Amino acid sequence: MTATSKLLVQKYGGSSVGSVERIAAVVARIARDRAAGFDVVAVVSAMGDTTDDLLALASSVTGGALPNAREQDALLATGEIQSAALLAMALIARGTDAVSLSGAQAGISADGTYGKGRIAGIEPRRVRAELDAGRVVIVAGFQGVSDGSETTTLGRGGSDTSAVALAAALGADRCQIFTDVRGVYTADPRAVPAARQLPVVGYEEMLELANQGAQVMQTRAVELGWVNNVAIEVLSSFEEHPGTVIKEDTQVEKRNKVRGLAADTKVAKVTMVAVPDKPGIARSVFDPLSAANINVDMIVQNVSHDGTTDLSFTTSRVDLAAARPVLEQIRSSIGARALEIDESVAKVSIVGAGIQNAPGYAARMFGTLADAKINIQMISTSEIRITCIVSESDAPRALQALHDAFDLATPDPVDEE
Ligand code: ADP
Ligand code: ASP
Ligand code: MG
Repeated sequence: MTATSKLLVQKYGGSSVGSVERIAAVVARIARDRAAGFDVVAVVSAMGDTTDDLLALASSVTGGALPNAREQDALLATGEIQSAALLAMALIARGTDAVSLSGAQAGISADGTYGKGRIAGIEPRRVRAELDAGRVVIVAGFQGVSDGSETTTLGRGGSDTSAVALAAALGADRCQIFTDVRGVYTADPRAVPAARQLPVVGYEEMLELANQGAQVMQTRAVELGWVNNVAIEVLSSFEEHPGTVIKEDTQVEKRNKVRGLAADTKVAKVTMVAVPDKPGIARSVFDPLSAANINVDMIVQNVSHDGTTDLSFTTSRVDLAAARPVLEQIRSSIGARALEIDESVAKVSIVGAGIQNAPGYAARMFGTLADAKINIQMISTSEIRITCIVSESDAPRALQALHDAFDLATPDPVDEE
């Protein structure tokens, strides 16, 4: 890297490297940025649906049994290694010197469990040396090494996190997340056609949106961006159009609108029916789940009748295969009458910093769902978010109705200033 050149860290998602033509478009963009004087580190996802295909292959060789977690990560990481090598080859063939690096070669270390690794640190010496040698560096996203040499993946959507972490570690001038939409919208534009692209989203609001299912950014990537103050630009690799910048939102105080909606259909509702209502029960339920690394959310305990109570919570459907035996064990050890698992629910959330200062948002959300004849099964809130669990089949209607009720298609005057 020359003293004067500026560094771009770019990330290309699965559909942005999903075909030979798409890879050619990425090559052209990188060549153009190089010609404009930038050094480039490009983090890539696996091509198209490769990760899903590899997961399906893993469960087919195990006859549907839960694949060994270490080996599954070893398999999944190859998807990103393939696209990194292909992009580097394509660049070299068109006269741009490039080198592909696995997460390990790029110095990315992770902690946590297989499939849910968190980036613990980056030692980017090799990346810097390659930049200094005048190469474009292509890094396989979604992976790091734990315990010195164990390949560990970073959770679905984890290439976003690889990119933001590298941008922070390298002190990049810009971090660009190229995807198949123009940026961050008021709701998933595939679910709500009237959704409006936002020019700017604050870290805090984006973190809530991502955490509640807005797939466009992985939650951990937003968190790392916030902590390291990396401005993240989300933009389309398919068309030239200004993107959305995720950064500290200095106008947040002036906004009084809901900023966006998120939906998550990858959740399940678990209910322990007729749990004896006595001290220590919650611990007996949640300690073993945490020991098994199963995240739970939205816990609701009902009023006690006849010395028993129903305890419900949500978890992710992906974790269910691992959670089922643990839950059955818990049910029998605490003497609950039954264990019910409902995989046909969805979370629908409204998010906006304005929520914390103004009353009426909750009433409006519940009223909108009631008018749409949508039953609310559970509710949870944070300072800037209200979430309802509804039936999965009601989620698309819920999003449409809420988008209308909170007038999200109309630009926020603060954005227009
Ligand atoms: P990539 O493969 O590039 O990482 P993803 O599929 O992970 O792409 O994320 C992009 C998708 O996120 C979009 O195609 C869109 O359907 C979805 N999405 C969900 N919520 C939002 C939102 N609020 N704004 C933009 N896109 C969203
Ligand atoms: N390929 C991985 C996934 O599908 C990581 C990513 O795309 O960010 O989740
Ligand atoms: Mg993604």
